[in-house]
Order: sequence, then structure tokens, then C-alpha cells
Amino acid sequence: FKSSALHQMSRTRKGAHPQPQTTEQPPPPPKDNGPIEVLVFGSINMDYITYLNELPKPGETLQAMYREQCFGGKGANQCMAAAKLGANCALIAKLGQDDLGSIYYEYLQQMGINTDYVEQLEGVETGIAQINVDDNAENTIVVLPGANQRLNSKDVSAAKKLFKTAKVLLCQLETNHKAVLCALKLFKGVSILNAAPAMKDMPPELIQAASILCVNEVEAAQLTDREDIKTLQDAKAAAGELLEKGAQSVIITMGALGAVHLSQSDPKYCIHCPAAPVRYLADTSGAGDAFLGSLAYHILRFPNLNPESHIYAANICAAYSVGHRGTQPSFPGSEIAQDDLC
Ligand code: ATP
Repeated sequence: FKSSALHQMSRTRKGAHPQPQTTEQPPPPPKDNGPIEVLVFGSINMDYITYLNELPKPGETLQAMYREQCFGGKGANQCMAAAKLGANCALIAKLGQDDLGSIYYEYLQQMGINTDYVEQLEGVETGIAQINVDDNAENTIVVLPGANQRLNSKDVSAAKKLFKTAKVLLCQLETNHKAVLCALKLFKGVSILNAAPAMKDMPPELIQAASILCVNEVEAAQLTDREDIKTLQDAKAAAGELLEKGAQSVIITMGALGAVHLSQSDPKYCIHCPAAPVRYLADTSGAGDAFLGSLAYHILRFPNLNPESHIYAANICAAYSVGHRGTQPSFPGSEIAQDDLC
């Protein structure tokens, strides 16, 4: 890796209050309409983020400072992260046939995402996430899945054409799990399952289905019945357990500690990729999605590099994201030169 502007930033401070962001985005770079490279099967939510000094306790009423409306949902976020870096992306997802759905649909098109398989359904609401963020950047999140619940296995069959041409598939667990499994089984390229939100007693079939199982430390703890994962050693042990459960390859993201990777191809060799430095910690929301979209992009563009290189590059993009406000607006685009990443 060459040194980049991002590498040169030194890390410091946490918890600076994010400022309001809008749903407006700069226009994306023009795209050639080549074949779809990254396919995302997942969720779309409109995020309502309320900023307040502290999170309310049960029964308590507090006044907030301000509120923002942002484009979110793990599926759409990860798709946007890969698309902003330059991948040709398609999203398979559901929206309501309501104002939010129409706004989101138009925005995806403006950002150059293929929406052939994004359907607006009558009589269903677009998914919503109500997020409270306090002064320490702690948050609580309540999701109303709405239309996301209607994404099913038939949508996988309908998009068969894209499953054949795409090189990388990204799935999460904010939509129907059987449909996710169906998507992973159909796909023959590199598949990444971000098992978030984590489910207790995740079926072994789902753990085994993806080429890469990627979770954060909290999700990894839930999947392996641990109280928590605090150290790299804990993460390594949890990754080992997930391999024993049949995962082909595991990445556990550890926030400011970076990420660890363990694979069936060499289960004794655990890789730790430290996080890239961040000078000013602006907002960590979406760091995981930035990591995943970027991982997909780098696997796509640099298939001959090893997993360590892909994870280093994803760490750099995720660090860029935590250094900027917002979720999708904080994901890096072409300003991160390829030379800097690989
Ligand atoms: P979120 O839920 O906030 O979107 P997450 O919990 O799924 O994120 P994390 O493990 O917190 O995911 O972060 C994902 C990646 O983002 C990390 O592996 C790391 O590369 C980067 N990252 C997160 N926090 C920091 C930080 N403070 N400094 C540098 N990089 C960070």
C-alpha cells in the first residue's frame, strides 16, 4: 500500500456532534452502462435521525436539538458505497408506493444504481428507521421494516439474469432470511453475507452459504453465544468458531481496531488489518456499510489480490466514512485514488 492522504491523517477525537445533513447529494460521475458487476439483495429504509444530549430512559420525555432525514437501509447503503467507488451496481429491493418510496427510487436512479428490480408496492409503507443519537454518538434504533418484508425468493428468480452476470453479491439480514439464502445459493461468484442484524441460532445453512461472512464484534458475539468481544484474541476465537460452524471465510470488523479475517483455506492463520487513521472522528454511522461496499468493490476490481489487501482497502474507505458526516454522503468516491488503495 502506498501512503495516501488518508494514511497521513492522525487519529483523535470522538463524539463531535454531527451537524444536520440533507438528502441532497452531488451528482454521481457518469457511468457507462456496462454489465452489472455488484448485485445487492437487501433493504431500503428512510432514516429519521434525532440528535439529543442523552438518550431517553423508559417513560422519559426529552427535547431534541434537531432532526434529519437520510437515505438508509443496509442494502441501499452498501450498494451506494460500491457504486460511489465506481462499480456498476444493481439493487434488488422493495419500497412502498408512497412519497418516501418515490423520493428514494428517484434518488437511486440519480446516483446511477440500476433499479430494474427495485419495486414500489401498493398498500405497503417504505421501511423507516427511527434513530436517536446522543452527545457521545451512542444511539438507539427502531426499524419499521414495511416493504422490506415483502422481498422474497420470487424476486431472486425474477432477477436471474443479473445473478448470472454479476461478479460480487452482497446480502444482509434486514430482509426475509429464506430469500437471502436462496440468493446466496443461486449466485456463483463471490458472495458476501453481512449477518446484520445478528440472529440468535442462525441456521448453519446460512452461515455456510456465503463465500465471506462479515459481522461486527457485537454480531460475532451474538452468533457465538459470547457475552462480548473486546480484544483481537476474542475476535480470533469467535471467527474460529464460525469456521467450525461451516463458514467459508470470516471477517469481523472491530471499529477503531480494524478487522480480523480467518478462512478455511488456512484456519490457523488469523489476519489482523488495523484500522486506517482518522484525524477527526465525525460520525461513525454507516462505517460497517462503507466497509462492506468497499470490500465488494475491491474484490471486483482486484480479484488477484489477497483478502488482506481487500480488507486494508475497505478499512481505508471505512475510515474515510467515519471522518465525514452522515451515512451515504460520507462514503468515498473517486477522490480516493485507486493507487492509494491497492
Ligand atoms: P456501524 O454500525 O457504525 O455502521 P459497524 O459496527 O457495523 O458500523 P465497525 O466495526 O464499527 O462496524 O466499523 C467498520 C469498519 O469501519 C472498521 O472495521 C474500521 O475499518 C472502520 N472504523 C470504524 N470506526 C473507526 C475508527 N474510529 N477509526 C478508524 N476506522 C474505523
